[in-house]
Amino acid sequence: MSDLLIIGAGPIGLAAGIEAKRAGLQFLILEAGTICQSLVEYPIGMRFYSPADELAIGGYPFPTPHDEKPTREIALNYYRKVASVENLPVRTYQRVVRIEPQAEGFAVHAVCTLHGAPTTYRTRCVLVCTGVWGKARRLQVEGAELPHVLTRYDEPIRFWRKRVLIVGAGNSAGEAAIRLADADAQVWLAVDQPRLEQCKFRPFILREVQLRVEEKRIMPLTEAHIRRIQPDCVELRCAEGVESLPVDFVLTLIGLEPDRNLLEPLGVPFGDDGKPIHDPDTYETPVRGVFLAGALSRDGFIYIARERVGRAIEAIAQRLRGD
Ligand SMILES: Cc1cc2nc3c(=O)[nH]c(=O)nc-3n(C[C@H](O)[C@H](O)[C@H](O)COP(=O)(O)OP(=O)(O)OC[C@H]3O[C@@H](n4cnc5c(N)ncnc54)[C@H](O)[C@@H]3O)c2cc1C
Repeated sequence: MSDLLIIGAGPIGLAAGIEAKRAGLQFLILEAGTICQSLVEYPIGMRFYSPADELAIGGYPFPTPHDEKPTREIALNYYRKVASVENLPVRTYQRVVRIEPQAEGFAVHAVCTLHGAPTTYRTRCVLVCTGVWGKARRLQVEGAELPHVLTRYDEPIRFWRKRVLIVGAGNSAGEAAIRLADADAQVWLAVDQPRLEQCKFRPFILREVQLRVEEKRIMPLTEAHIRRIQPDCVELRCAEGVESLPVDFVLTLIGLEPDRNLLEPLGVPFGDDGKPIHDPDTYETPVRGVFLAGALSRDGFIYIARERVGRAIEAIAQRLRGD
C-alpha cells in the first residue's frame, strides 16, 4: 500500500509529486493520458499568458529565448524534462474510474486507456489533481451535440475558408476568433455582452479582435443568445435582431467545469461555483484522506497552485505521521 496516490499528471500533479518525493512519501501518480495531457490538447502553437517563471515547478528554472511567454510546445518540453529529471513515478494511460474507501485507506480503480485492462491500487491518502480541462461546458440548446459543434480545436487551418460561429466572451473564444480569422476562416463571434469591451478579454486580445472587426475579418454578434443549431445553420437572437446564420462549424468556448464522476460518488460535496468543497488550508475534502489541488480547487493559475500544493502535501505527511 502506498502512502499517497496522486491522480493527474498535469503541471500541479507533477509539482505535487516533487513535493511528495521531498517529503519522503511512498507515492504514485496515475494519469489518464500522457504527462500534461491537458496541455497536449490545447491548441497547437498556443502561447501562455503567463511568463515562464510563473509556469515553472519544483524550483526548476524555465528559461525562454528573450524571456518570451512560452508556447504550448515549449511548456510541454519543460514539464517533460522536469518529470524525467525528478524520475517521478508516473503511470501514464491509467484513468482512475473509482475511489473506494476501505477500512484503512482507499482502493483506487483505474482502467488502462490503451487496452482497457483494469488495475486496483491501494493507498492511504489520495490527492486529486484532475483539473477542469476534461469537461467543457456545452450550450443547452437543441443541436448542441451535432458533430460540427466543437468545444475545442487543435489546428486553425482545419477551418480554412469555412464559416465558423464562435460562441463565448472569454479569452479562449477571443483567441480562437483571432487565430481562425488569420487562417482565412469566415468568423462570427457571438458574445452575450452589449459591447466587446464588456467581455472578459485580456486587453491585448480585445485589441486584436477589434482590429479584425475593423477589417471585417471577424463579425461580432452582441447580446447573442443561441436558440437552435441545425446541420447547416444556427438560429440566434442578438442586438442586430433574429438571425439564421449559415455555418459550417460552431465552436462553443463557454468555459470548463470539473468532472464530478470521481468525487461525488465518494461523498465530496460541490459548491455553487461547481468546484468541490475543501479546507482552504489543508486542501482536504470533507472525506478524510481525500485531498485536492490545482485547477480542480479554486487555484486557477499555476503560480498560485504550485505554492499551495505544498500545503496539501504537508497536511498529508502530518496525517500519515499521525500528528
Ligand atoms: C488555453 C489555456 C491557457 C491557459 N493559460 C494559462 C496561463 O497563461 N497561466 C496559468 O497560470 N494558467 C493558464 N491556464 C490554466 C492552466 O493550464 C491550469 O491551471 C493548469 O493546467 C492546471 O494544472 P492541473 O495540474 O491542476 O490540471 P491539468 O493541467 O488540467 O491536468 C490534469 C490532468 O489530470 C488528468 N486526468 C483527468 N482525469 C483523470 C482521471 N480520472 N484519471 C487520471 N488522470 C486524469 C488529465 O489527463 C490531465 O493530464 C490556461 C488554461 C487554458 C485552457
